[in-house]
Amino acid sequence: MSDRPLPRDDLRALDGYHSPQVDVAVRLNTNESPVAPPAAFVERWAEELRAVPFNRYPDRAAGALRGALGAFLGQPVERIFCANGSNEVLQTLLLTYGGPGRTAAMFEPTYALHAHIARITSTGVCNAERADDFSIDADAAVALIAATKPAVVFLCSPNNPTGTVDDRATVLRVADAAAAHGALLVVDEAYGEFAPWSALELVDDERPVVVVRTYSKIWSLAGVRLGFAVGPSWVVEELEKVLLPYALSVPTQLAGTLALEFRAEMEQRVASLVEERGRLVAALAAEPALTVFPSGANFLLVRVDGDAHALWQRLLDRGVLVRDFSRWPRVEGCLRITVGTPAENDSFLAALRESLQEKM
Ligand code: PMP
Repeated sequence: MSDRPLPRDDLRALDGYHSPQVDVAVRLNTNESPVAPPAAFVERWAEELRAVPFNRYPDRAAGALRGALGAFLGQPVERIFCANGSNEVLQTLLLTYGGPGRTAAMFEPTYALHAHIARITSTGVCNAERADDFSIDADAAVALIAATKPAVVFLCSPNNPTGTVDDRATVLRVADAAAAHGALLVVDEAYGEFAPWSALELVDDERPVVVVRTYSKIWSLAGVRLGFAVGPSWVVEELEKVLLPYALSVPTQLAGTLALEFRAEMEQRVASLVEERGRLVAALAAEPALTVFPSGANFLLVRVDGDAHALWQRLLDRGVLVRDFSRWPRVEGCLRITVGTPAENDSFLAALRESLQEKM
């Protein structure tokens, strides 16, 4: 079999994305919304889909969707870019601004797909470290940008998997450093709506700052695959050249446009998840074997004093799936728990208390 085609040399050592999809009663491992979108939304969507001429390609510019998003966010349509999930937005950003001979800087531990997509797009990875509390030292970040001159700088706020929210002053300093050195700052705000502030307020046509968001969390539409970037119109123009034509299906465009009419329901979901997050923090903080990190997202990172992987397995044995980070560099001994419905959170807490009582 010596003549079997080989993938690119730089991809051979690459690992795929590993997050087990296990069929269990309580799924608190992938930070999705625990509840379905409103029934009225699904009905409207289905009704509109019946009238679609599916023999025709979709609107290539996704004009209605981008216009509706722009109106929703108070930004001109020219600053909105949409793709199939924020992962595809990130990929398009790196295809456009990364690539061979260029690097992307990121602050670890952070969302693994930033480095993964960098590798897929042959973009070099420049890893910087977060402090022990997972915050970013603004002076060190500015110095790193000046020294390594990355093409792209990633921030992730709230950061996955730690939940850390970067403060405005830090983001502004990183944005200024990026601007000074010809870099594009990408702020991944997949969980931005759960946080006290957003870098969306920094987006204009002067700053090289792009904010990336998703319909997968607050809009309860992870299964649709829709994400977007809000950035300078001159960035959006370049991204449009790189995204494949007709990338966004008609059902996706319609779902994204219609969902925005259900803003009050979305805000209600966000508010109740934030409230549940508070309840979980209090319950977890009361466990002597656990340290819970502050989170501005719909998940919590906890460090386990003991065998975290064994605790993960015991929770799974009780029908509760959380994310096992116990062997990940910099978050060793940690588990990440997505905030679920009140009933799911109760099940998790009951399973946790039982599991912690077993000797670890
Ligand atoms: N960014 C971050 C930080 C995430 O955690 C996720 C989801 N795991 C994504 C982007 C991708 O989300 P999606 O592709 O579903 O929009």
